[in-house]
Amino acid sequence: MEQIKNLSLLSSLCENVNSAIAVHNPATGDVLGYVPSHNREAIEKVIEKAETAQKSWAKTTAKLRAEILSRWYQLIMDNQEDLARIMTLEQGKPLAESRGEVAYGASFVQWFAEEGKRAYGETIPTPLTDRRIMTIRQPVGVAAAITPWNFPIAMITRKAVPALAAGCSFIGKPAAQTPLSAYAVAELARQAGLPEGLLAIVTSSDAVMVGELFCSSPKIQKISFTGSTHVGRILMRQSAESVKRVSMELGGNAPFIVFDDADIDAAVKGALASKFRNAGQTCVCANRFYVHDSVYDEFVAKFAAEVSKLSVGNGLDDGITIGPLIDDNAKKKVQTLVNDAVAQGANITAGGDDLGGQFFAPTVLTHVEHNMSIVKEEIFGPIAPVIRFHDDASLIDMANDTEYGLASYFYSKDINRIFAVAEALDYGMVGVNEGIISTEVAPFGGVKQSGIGREGARQGLDEYLNTKYICIGGM
Ligand code: ADP
Repeated sequence: MEQIKNLSLLSSLCENVNSAIAVHNPATGDVLGYVPSHNREAIEKVIEKAETAQKSWAKTTAKLRAEILSRWYQLIMDNQEDLARIMTLEQGKPLAESRGEVAYGASFVQWFAEEGKRAYGETIPTPLTDRRIMTIRQPVGVAAAITPWNFPIAMITRKAVPALAAGCSFIGKPAAQTPLSAYAVAELARQAGLPEGLLAIVTSSDAVMVGELFCSSPKIQKISFTGSTHVGRILMRQSAESVKRVSMELGGNAPFIVFDDADIDAAVKGALASKFRNAGQTCVCANRFYVHDSVYDEFVAKFAAEVSKLSVGNGLDDGITIGPLIDDNAKKKVQTLVNDAVAQGANITAGGDDLGGQFFAPTVLTHVEHNMSIVKEEIFGPIAPVIRFHDDASLIDMANDTEYGLASYFYSKDINRIFAVAEALDYGMVGVNEGIISTEVAPFGGVKQSGIGREGARQGLDEYLNTKYICIGGM
């Protein structure tokens, strides 16, 4: 593959195209290569190995696990450029964003390498003099994860590393569109000295089979999923039978609110970053903008001017800020949402064009009303619908009027309003005067139908630990 210096990162590419998954470059449509499509028997063997490997891993010290994970972190950063190129080739995001994602993905490795040492239990004051009471934290066992294509490295590391740091083994099934990045980071874990069987990547053209196998296997104790709410529901249903622990990071419909006292230039900057990163294909992307009547015209004029300057094209080319959408279906969905909004009375103030291939122009829609379909649905593309609002009370009702509750954003300089609105928004995450809030040190996750559980921060480790209560009597 073009200009990848460390070819060992691509060791997963296979020749046997008959039982393989073709990986495409969304910018050109070219086939980049093939990865294996594992069948049920092959994945069952991986699960067995993971079960065996976990038993010895759980007996190692957190310190030793941290040493290995820290080496992995260093290798990811040493290979940042190659990993970024692989990511842009298979996912499409601009190279600068891919470099950023490699560093972001690596930050979870570094964070959890350390945090694994702090899986503290407690000693609890006893109500009976002849007893002593304590808790210890133990790894859940084998953890399996299913991840999406929008963050091909970070979605793997922020699940795999807390699992490994806690003493679990981990099996990841990346999306068929972007398996190369996952295989590449896993190869670096091997080079870092992670014992065999503890971290496995499996790929299959039959995602349903893998989901059923993971959820039904008695050898797997934990399922972590990032993807659509629709598939999350299926996996929760399937996991019910064996009462597995689940973490679900599902869809979002983030409101981005600009109050009358906001710093408009800062809001425009935050809106651009929040909406157009990864061509609008993130679950925390601003999905709908509510702008106060008194600053609406100013915000829209400045925002549309900035959006018109975004540069669409192949993410490997210099100066590109918006890459292709992941596939044809993604583009069709975006086009349909724009057409419907226009039919319902919205105006196209910037963009609106199909740019051929899988490219769609970054678009600003105005005259949007809260009840339009584009406001209700997760857009997952570079479209910004802007709604005019008049008072705070109805604004909060509109912002919370969704089944989702992942990220939300607002701009205001009034400290009373900042607390009131942050507390009133029914979301797992609130960005105040900030459009990009993800970091390894903070708990990422949603409420309502956006999911269960948290990733990153100390809470991210809890997802892979059981609490055991020990009572010593007869003292
Ligand atoms: P997206 O719209 O982002 O592709 P999906 O929820 O469809 O979101 O996909 C996220 C991940 O879930 C991918 O790895 C995909 O292969 C996998 N997946 C899709 N459908 C199923 C299913 N029925 N069971 C298990 N995994 C699935």
